[in-house]
Amino acid sequence: MAEHPEHAAIPSVNEAPQDFWEPEPGAVADDTTAAADPACAADELDDTTASGVWSRLLSGNRRFAGDKATNAGRDAAARKALVDGQQPTAIVLSCSDSRVVPELLFDSPLGDLFTVRTAGEMVDDAVLRTIEFAIDGLHPKLLVVLAHQHCAAIEACRHDVDELLAKTAKETGKDPADVIDDLDEILDGSKDPMLRFVGTAVWQAKIADLDSADDCEQVAVAHTIEYLVTHSEIIRDALARERMMIVGARYRLDTGLVETLSF
Ligand SMILES: [Zn+2]
Repeated sequence: MAEHPEHAAIPSVNEAPQDFWEPEPGAVADDTTAAADPACAADELDDTTASGVWSRLLSGNRRFAGDKATNAGRDAAARKALVDGQQPTAIVLSCSDSRVVPELLFDSPLGDLFTVRTAGEMVDDAVLRTIEFAIDGLHPKLLVVLAHQHCAAIEACRHDVDELLAKTAKETGKDPADVIDDLDEILDGSKDPMLRFVGTAVWQAKIADLDSADDCEQVAVAHTIEYLVTHSEIIRDALARERMMIVGARYRLDTGLVETLSF
């Protein structure tokens, strides 16, 4: 059984707090400011820092949510300007959900976001290498791990984990509460990569008594960030050298707004 904090809301993230970005007070526009000023000028924001990039992306999201997206930087001139190269400011790892399109919901121009999308933001070697490729070659300031409301992949894993728990309890003749601590080993041995990765996040939420879909979506972000940092020397090095920072976020389908998660 993997070790886990007894009552941790977000398992394991606190193991390496120095590796995670926390915005400086006032560095990132909060919801109130952004809602009051959805047209917060991108040119007033500093794209040379991670917090500046995140502020700009949040401003774009407020425009999108307020039906004021500019859709700038997507015309022939923008395409022509990008023929010879790209310099994305952020990597976004998000769900493949058809309703969660990072370029649209951040109102980003072509060439701005290097996106990787999988069901439930699951990570495997290909995803990890794709992110490392971007960090090494394109030097983005920010890595955004973006979950979303009503994630079908997480919902499917919640169902599968519950079924697996009931099945294991039945087979062993024990109470589900007595077998849940060992469920991570069974999940780890699953042939289904989504159940292995996203199911483990659901399990982490469950053992911390965080059973709602909202909770699971947030814990999944923490799990993904922890996995990325643990499994990639390139990511750890970029964080240690302060070349890049990581932010966890969640997109709300009902409001169109992106929430910054704090761990
Ligand atoms: Zn999803």
